[in-house]
Amino acid sequence: MKVADGIEMLEVEMKMMGGKRINNPTLIYDDKHLVLVDVGMPGQIEAIKAAVEKAGFQFSNIDTVIFTHQDIDHIGGIQDLLDAVGKPVEIYAHVDEKPYIEGDKEPVKMNRQQVAQMVEKMSEEMRKEAEAIYLNRPTAKVTKTLTDDEVIPIAGGIQVIHTPGHTPGHICLYHQATGTLVTGDETVAENGKLTGPNPVYTPDMGLALASLKKLTTHDVAKAICYHGGLIDDQVNEQLRELTI
Ligand SMILES: [Zn+2]
Repeated sequence: MKVADGIEMLEVEMKMMGGKRINNPTLIYDDKHLVLVDVGMPGQIEAIKAAVEKAGFQFSNIDTVIFTHQDIDHIGGIQDLLDAVGKPVEIYAHVDEKPYIEGDKEPVKMNRQQVAQMVEKMSEEMRKEAEAIYLNRPTAKVTKTLTDDEVIPIAGGIQVIHTPGHTPGHICLYHQATGTLVTGDETVAENGKLTGPNPVYTPDMGLALASLKKLTTHDVAKAICYHGGLIDDQVNEQLRELTI
């Protein structure tokens, strides 16, 4: 779905543990670059490729990937993507997220101990599936680290907003020309309403709420939530309400 000039929200059905759901990676583009923000779960690149093509783009033109954060539903498809594109791709992530994405640190969620706990009560089949996903996390070399407030010179300028809490190096991306905010998991869309980060998956809610406040200093016309999709109705007001 075209959200604004230079921004396309993808709708990709992904198998997650115990079911399927629609996730929303975003394409940001200009005449020189095609950027994919977040790449989904491992082993599901065909679905993303189909969504990119449906939006009218050639998958092999992707030259940059930006990760909003380290969670496996956002970075898991990176190796599949690199294989499918078949040429070097720039990978951007916040500096605090780099060691997790590169595999030098255990992920902040679903580390080995937590996975062991999770699979304890599962059936054999589910356990195998869970371990295959979480104990073989793809890693990737981050080619450029991002810092708060930095403006990426693509599509007229994409401002990086560091929004820690859900993970230490979580970022939102603000497309200055159109007031479009790619929120990652800092917000979730539910029934047309914006909600804050899911407490179940957010280790530091206090920090995540402080990060939400940061978002209110921007004029946001549209918000793309990785989980739940587009919110384009009174977004500034909705963001403000979440911080009260
Ligand atoms: Zn997520």
